[in-house]
Amino acid sequence: MTDSLTPAAGLEQTRSLVTEIPGPRSRALAARQAEAVPAGVATTMPVFAARAGGGVIEDVDGNRLIDLGSGIAVTSVGASHPRVVEAVQQQVAAFTHTCFMVTPYEGYVAVAERLGERAPISGPTRSALFNSGAEAVENAVKVARAHTGRQAVAAFDHAYHGRTTLTMALTAKSMPYKHRFGPFAPEVYRVPGSYPLRDGLDGPTAAARAIRVMEQQIGAENLAAVIMEPIQGEGGFIVPAEGFLPAVARWCRAHGVLFIADEVQSGIARTGAWFACEAAGVEPDLLTTAKGIAGGMPLSAVTGRAEIMDAVHAGGLGGTFGGNPVATAASLAVFEAVEEDGLLERARRIEQVIREHFEQHPDARIGEVRGQGAMMAVELVDPATKQPDAALTAAVASAARAAGVVLLTCGTYGNVIRFLPPLTIPEELLREGLAEVSAALAAA
Ligand code: PMP
Repeated sequence: MTDSLTPAAGLEQTRSLVTEIPGPRSRALAARQAEAVPAGVATTMPVFAARAGGGVIEDVDGNRLIDLGSGIAVTSVGASHPRVVEAVQQQVAAFTHTCFMVTPYEGYVAVAERLGERAPISGPTRSALFNSGAEAVENAVKVARAHTGRQAVAAFDHAYHGRTTLTMALTAKSMPYKHRFGPFAPEVYRVPGSYPLRDGLDGPTAAARAIRVMEQQIGAENLAAVIMEPIQGEGGFIVPAEGFLPAVARWCRAHGVLFIADEVQSGIARTGAWFACEAAGVEPDLLTTAKGIAGGMPLSAVTGRAEIMDAVHAGGLGGTFGGNPVATAASLAVFEAVEEDGLLERARRIEQVIREHFEQHPDARIGEVRGQGAMMAVELVDPATKQPDAALTAAVASAARAAGVVLLTCGTYGNVIRFLPPLTIPEELLREGLAEVSAALAAA
């Protein structure tokens, strides 16, 4: 890996702690936050950012932290990639908004074209742009219902699809996402998925179980769509057993049920391919993207087979801000950066570095190292019983954070440490961050 991708801010790519974490300025800002922002909007690390780019976040006290989170899988090209910065600055100076539904602009169309070229969907496609991942998922379901004339949607155990009313219903985990926020949207059904470490089932067997539940409890003829993350994100970076996704997708196709791949977290180069569906060997009917698509600007998309997407009547899809010109300019820069900076290869190299690190630092409490590309995780367990160890996970994460590593956890059982570094992180910095995680694990 070369370290040539200097972020625009000229931010030095090293870790440096000059105060305790959080430092005095961050603590003062956290006190203001407590008086102005509701407690429901919680923060992982009460460290306020001043600059970020490459593999580093610099805080308001002058500490430089190693970024292993990319703002939850968003800044895959870094938080201030020169191409993104330039594209955004130029677009802001030209115009910030006209509303694509009023007077359109080229950037929106160009992003739809890029998605059509990259999406693992054969034949002509269409893409509609929105602002957030949840909004993309909502719209994918709207399209699926309009196209099929059916209402039911099946989502899996451990799924995460967002926090709006419909996407909360699709999301599996109650605390903190759904707790006290019901009632939830109707016609959403929960189906068992594939979690090799915990269910021990091979892909075809797990798929047969899912299909049985769908046939018995929903009925294929009532089902508009099955939605699944090809690698489940918030649920624990769960990679379904080989053959699971193709078997479910085949069943969908045979019964006129649309297969929606939610690639909000796994898409846009994160896993070492443009989309995780490619490695899973599935061709979705509809594909949702967000997060990494625009280098930190809010943008999301639904991409789908043309005849499905075009089933919606004129005016049925849209929104004031969807496909904002500044966000689409950033996105076009991301598509270029992924190609020209070789970021697919870098994602695959990051996987190799992470796997090698945990092979060299084995620990009986690591139940599994899994993931693809720069979407990797370790699941922490009680070595004797393999039961999830959420307390250990929290202790490791908090020790690594105190040492200056921005580190995220996830998982239905709260026992998964996930690694989502920017694809532009210098390799030395990644290794240093991993060493801190292993040190924290050894000390816990
Ligand atoms: N789907 C998946 C797979 C996600 O990981 C997320 C966000 N973590 C969402 C949907 C929701 O995206 P957003 O937070 O942008 O609404």
